[in-house]
Parts: sequence; structure tokens; C-alpha cells
Amino acid sequence: MAILPLIYSPDPLLKKISEPVAEVNDEIRQLLDDMVETMHDRQGIGLAAVQVGVLKRILVMDLGYGSKRYAEAGGEGESNPIHMVNPEIVASSDEENIYEEGCLSFPGQFAEVIRPKMVTIEYLDYDGNKQRVDCDELLSTCVQHEIDHLNGITFVDHLSRVKRNMILKKLEKQFKHNM
Ligand SMILES: [Zn+2]
Repeated sequence: MAILPLIYSPDPLLKKISEPVAEVNDEIRQLLDDMVETMHDRQGIGLAAVQVGVLKRILVMDLGYGSKRYAEAGGEGESNPIHMVNPEIVASSDEENIYEEGCLSFPGQFAEVIRPKMVTIEYLDYDGNKQRVDCDELLSTCVQHEIDHLNGITFVDHLSRVKRNMILKKLEKQFKHNM
């Protein structure tokens, strides 16, 4: 396993649409493993392949391990990674939910985003088997955020122009400061 370098906004790759995966083979599983390790290293709860510069429809999530959110809740965090290849939202609720979202490609930036409260996802798992899962609460928010990445959309695209520009400016300043 390896920790992969992340890309950050405003990298133009983040606006690109990722390509479907033809087959879940060892090369894809290696990428999935590396993505989980990278996500854990950065204390993220979700990561899309585009964020490590790979334009494939792949995402990983782990709500229980390493995340700050989990630590704040007083948990130790147990690893329970979810791997999704070619995920698709096949149903979503009318009811909505608001979560404060962050993104490993927008370090230190957070904003409240409104999304459908529940979604049903179809995807291929680590072994290439077709799965269908109903997602609610944080898992629902997370999977929608990650699927957005596969379509070239980031969480700031859900905000008003004013809020989005504020975040982009802050990020620019932060990067200048750190370089
Ligand atoms: Zn993200």
C-alpha cells in the first residue's frame, strides 16, 4: 500500500468527468487500497480517485476510522472501509438534510451543504460484485459528495457565488502562506 499525493483546488482535474471502470481487477484493487490508506492518513471520511489524479469512477469511504468527526465524538475509530466502483445514485429522497462538509482537496475549509437526506446507490464492490445500498445521515452526504467528484463537481459548487468565492480566496491565501 502507498500514500498517494492529493490534488487541491483549483486544480483543473477537479472539474473533469471521470471514466467508468471496465473491470475490477488487481490494478483497480491496488488503487482502492492506496486510496483507503491515503484517506486514513489525511483523516478523511471519503476520497474520490480524481483527488489522487486518477480520472476513474472510484471512491472510498470510512466513517469510523481516523476521522476528526469520529474523534470529536469520543470514539477510537475502527476501520470499516467501503469501496465503490462505478457508483450510481438510483434513487434519492425528497426530504433534505444539511451537513457541514469539508473536502481533502479544500484543506481547512468547511460549509453547510443541502442534499437529499437518503439515496440508494448501485456500485461494484472490491470483488467486482454488483451491490445496492440505502444510505442515510452522514453516509448519504458523504457518498453524494464523492459521486459529485466523479462528475467534476465539488462541494463549493453547491454554495452561493459569494460563499464559494470566499472559500476559494481563503484557500488561495492559505496555499501562498504555506509555500
Ligand atoms: Zn471532496
